[in-house]
Amino acid sequence: MPYDHITNGFSNGYTNGNSELHVVDLRSDTISKPTQAMREAMAIAPVGDDVYGEDPTVNLLIQKSCQLFGKEDGILVPSGTMANMIARGPAQLAGVQQALVRNKNDGTFCLDEMCSRIRIDPDCHEPYTALIVVENTHNMCGGKVLPLEWLDKLGNIAKSHGIAVHMDGARIMNAAVASKVELSRIVRDMDSVCFCLSKSLGAPIGSVLLGTKAFIERAKRVRKVLGGGMRQAGIMAAAGIVALDSMMDQLRIDHEHLRQIAEAIHNMNSKIFKVDLQADTNILMIYLDNRKVTADKFLQRLYDVYPNDPIKVRIRASTRDNSCIRFVFYWEITDEDVQMAIKKLEYVIREFETKTSV
Ligand SMILES: *Cc1c(COP(=O)(O)O)cnc(C)c1O
Repeated sequence: MPYDHITNGFSNGYTNGNSELHVVDLRSDTISKPTQAMREAMAIAPVGDDVYGEDPTVNLLIQKSCQLFGKEDGILVPSGTMANMIARGPAQLAGVQQALVRNKNDGTFCLDEMCSRIRIDPDCHEPYTALIVVENTHNMCGGKVLPLEWLDKLGNIAKSHGIAVHMDGARIMNAAVASKVELSRIVRDMDSVCFCLSKSLGAPIGSVLLGTKAFIERAKRVRKVLGGGMRQAGIMAAAGIVALDSMMDQLRIDHEHLRQIAEAIHNMNSKIFKVDLQADTNILMIYLDNRKVTADKFLQRLYDVYPNDPIKVRIRASTRDNSCIRFVFYWEITDEDVQMAIKKLEYVIREFETKTSV
């Protein structure tokens, strides 16, 4: 950590004279750690061999997930990447080609453009279209919830062409909580859906892929091909069950935290920094005028604490590109963290405004 020397030589007013500075780490929800309840559940979880279908804790997690999503069956895999790979198989694994349709800012894409890319009875030089993939919430669009009417239209188009739809629902729980729509309704027209236990839900490992019994039968073969059949996977499923049973309310708090920070930045009326006020889940994009300040420079200043700074807080975040930084909220970010982060943001933004106006 190249900036640690900055912590030397003065005390931090927030933590009982401890010289460590308070850090608000908003880089990603993947850094969220398992809760105490999860750790305890993992320690005592009854387990068996999941490759034999004999792990009772995995089976319970799948049963709960199927109920929530209204799907027939599911499998537990180590990561979201693997769940998506199993569901669609990228080029290097399965000879599958992808046709990308450009996103709009709200996470949707133009359905007419999608239709123009569908190849139903193509020339022998072209692959035929077998699958449409959507992402909900949409990460790089700032955690946007895909509108239900749009999903319904997409579902109808896919059905009329006999094409399957897969939802990359890494953060679909955030979508359900923000839109107050049941998971089973959101994925009604989806042939398969996966969600991450390890992001905003806080579990340490794992993603669940859901679909029909026949689909999951095939998925288990592909999981083997990918090298990922796990044995006593109930250890990780146990944390997932705690996540499903007790972390949904926390997501509402995460969304509220995001709103407080978004509004604080918006209310500054900065000419340099604009916040995405449409953000309504746990991902906030902050856009900046990179002729005045680059994303890297802003990020660095949010992290640095100079000896004369009145606000002794470091904020960690990630950059999307040189004119956008991203905050992601999760259960370990507290009310106090949010208040401190707002003070720091207000201080730093005001400083840049003053510097660049002369
Ligand atoms: C994180 C993420 C993935 C991949 O999940 P991992 O568990 O990190 O492999 C896939 N899709 C989206 C939208 C994600 O945010």
